[in-house]
Amino acid sequence: MLSSCLPLPGPDMERSALGEQACAAPHLRAALNGMGLGLLTFNRSLEILFANDRLATTLEIPPMAADRAMSLPEVLEGSAALTAAAVQRVQEACLAAIAASGGHRSTIPVLSGQASRFFALEVARLDDGHWMASFEEVTARHTAEASAIELAMHDPLTGLPNRELFHRRAVAALAEAAQDGTAQDGAGPAVLLIDLDRFKAVNDTLGHPVGDALLRLVAKRLRSVLRSGDVVARIGGDEFALLVPPIPEPVDLAQLAKRIVDVLGRSYLIDGHLVNIGASIGVAQAPRDGHGHSQVLRSADLALYHAKQSGRSTWSFFEPQMDARALARRALEIDLRRALALREFELHYQPQVDLGTNAIVGFEALLRWRHPGRGLVPPADFIPLAEEIGLIVPLGEWVLREACCAATRWPPGMSVAVNVSPHQFADTARLVRLVAKSLEASGLPGHRLEIEITESVLLRHEQAVLTALHSLRAMGVRMAMDDFGTGYSSLSQLYSFPFDKIKIDRSFVRDRGDAAGQAAIIRAITALGASLGMATIAEGVETSEQLARIRAEGCTSVQGYLFSRPVPVDQVDRLIFEFAGRRSASNTVG
Ligand code: C2E
Ligand code: MG
Ligand code: MG
Repeated sequence: MLSSCLPLPGPDMERSALGEQACAAPHLRAALNGMGLGLLTFNRSLEILFANDRLATTLEIPPMAADRAMSLPEVLEGSAALTAAAVQRVQEACLAAIAASGGHRSTIPVLSGQASRFFALEVARLDDGHWMASFEEVTARHTAEASAIELAMHDPLTGLPNRELFHRRAVAALAEAAQDGTAQDGAGPAVLLIDLDRFKAVNDTLGHPVGDALLRLVAKRLRSVLRSGDVVARIGGDEFALLVPPIPEPVDLAQLAKRIVDVLGRSYLIDGHLVNIGASIGVAQAPRDGHGHSQVLRSADLALYHAKQSGRSTWSFFEPQMDARALARRALEIDLRRALALREFELHYQPQVDLGTNAIVGFEALLRWRHPGRGLVPPADFIPLAEEIGLIVPLGEWVLREACCAATRWPPGMSVAVNVSPHQFADTARLVRLVAKSLEASGLPGHRLEIEITESVLLRHEQAVLTALHSLRAMGVRMAMDDFGTGYSSLSQLYSFPFDKIKIDRSFVRDRGDAAGQAAIIRAITALGASLGMATIAEGVETSEQLARIRAEGCTSVQGYLFSRPVPVDQVDRLIFEFAGRRSASNTVG
């Protein structure tokens, strides 16, 4: 340790002047020694003029002769608390202060092995033209702050790192791999993005406490597959991410992904409920799938999207063509938004014919996109994307308003059927308001509007959906179950709401070489409809043979190319006119 309060005696005037000054004021010396900071003064040649007692303890400087002049570098190098790099930084700070004739303030990290220490350094210019440097160890404060930050970067529900912390870890791991060359060998850090399948349904049907408990169990199961060094984080509602460094040894990522799908796919018992969900995973690895963390994450995200598209509860590795597909999707998305603004959509109408009276009783409104370059685009080519990006909501609103207006110009006995996407049921209140407004603005009586929904609508948000369906029914609006037989076809859905009509999907009408089987299904559905008081309509009738079969099975009405393809609005009048003509002709003949 430095033995005493300097002044260190020396040859030059400056030093003896300060020494005298300090020695001449013992009370000042006592005060400086009593300070909590290690403190020293030096001249522009970095020779030390004075150091307080605390400096020795703060910097862990060994005892040395008090009778020898010392330089700042010499004193610092004797410090057991500072590493060579830290000594270098202190010296640079002092020299910078001298060069700028000013002061300096910084925190000097001392990183050696696992232990990190931090010293607050302050260099100030004194009135007499010398400089004073003070040192204070702030490791405790620093670690407390760091752990507070760490804490704030964790998800309170699962205790896992959050998105922010995951990004930091990913950035650091990728930078480190790029630096030490691991990434060059083709096996750098990997990112696995994990998305839970059917989580939303659990949350909606069993409630948030069960949803929360489920997320905690998922986090626990994920932790169980980790090696030390892997980072697992919750980065969104039901999204998790895993960072897998190639250290201590490279991992078989396919094996790992499979294991996670397996582990998360096992049943969960929560509050007496047996809960089943799945997990889809997208995998990307540096440097093959990207260098920076944002590139690797984007690749993993594209791979996840692919996994979800290919049936869920599976995993996909990133492939370059996924990028091309994503670009095409993005282009279509931009195009769709533009089309909505420029009103490039139109509705075509396909007649529905009553089999008892052979008269047109209504039309189904079918959406078309009149694309400036691609011509008339069918809904199958853009509705799934519109649903995914939420554009189906404004688009569906336009469809409903437009269809109600068109129907007011038809004979009073004819109704209009409008397809409503399951996504429009996410906000049931908005949907109910929309229908009320469309009827009011157009003046169409409620009973002339029919809403077609598919079975999937009833699978989610059950209570809210049923309430909405009853509100619509209260306005007189009729309800049809579309594409019946293709989805879950749970009979309980037909009991859960009194639909007015069941639309038998065209796959049961089309000739598939199994006429007997198809007829049996149609017969069963019409019988079911009849016993529940619901009308039945067969879709996709193209030939008179199909029509004869359907008539024989007791369907109420039909729709199909045999009568007419969907036509633009300005051809509806002609169609009604021609149909009435044909009917009266056949009546006259018959
Ligand atoms: P969907 O509601 O089942 O409509 C019936 C589809 O069958 C229509 O296809 C129609 O053109 C087609 N079709 C009718 N008769 C025949 C036939 O005899 N043979 C064959 N092969 N097909 C026939 P489209 O217009 O391409 O619509 C496809 C689907 O797109 C619709 O199925 C519906 O689910 C959806 N869609 C159409 N318009 C809208 C809309 O405004 N909103 C929403 N959310 N979905 C819509
Ligand atoms: Mg339909
Ligand atoms: Mg249909």
